[in-house]
Amino acid sequence: MRKKKFEFDEVVNISEKQVKNIDVYNLEVEDDNSYCANRLVVHNCITEMSYAMNNGYMTSVSEANRKKGKKTYFVYSGGVDRGTCKFCEAALGTVLLWSDKPLGDDKIKDVHSTTAIWRGKNNVGRKPWWICFPTHPNCIHYPEEIDPVLEKWDEEINKIIFKVD
Ligand SMILES: [Zn+2]
Repeated sequence: MRKKKFEFDEVVNISEKQVKNIDVYNLEVEDDNSYCANRLVVHNCITEMSYAMNNGYMTSVSEANRKKGKKTYFVYSGGVDRGTCKFCEAALGTVLLWSDKPLGDDKIKDVHSTTAIWRGKNNVGRKPWWICFPTHPNCIHYPEEIDPVLEKWDEEINKIIFKVD
């Protein structure tokens, strides 16, 4: 049996407050290089990854649609559990229209959407929040492409379903 080796790296000068450490595992590596990292650092990393991934995803989807002359819509997607905040619970299922440029205000007039999203839209220093990805640190919700002509959000199962005539 493979013996697990844990290395505990000391993380210093992160915060004056004492923060909990959590385990981080790299499951891809045979020789286990798991380590223990500062909780705050991990949360920041996860949040930054979410920001980069979601913005990359939305940009590539919208680029492909733009070439076809199509508007791009996303829905605020993901599930609900005990950890889901009130903002995300209310935002679930919101249809968002992609804008190629940042807008000063995200309120828009469109047949299928009243809210715009663009690359880089974020909540840094914003109160109240607006819808973006991630909406807040550690947010697990994500954009999912939707064709609002053919599809809709089902609030019972928190998923996109086909409209039935
Ligand atoms: Zn949330």
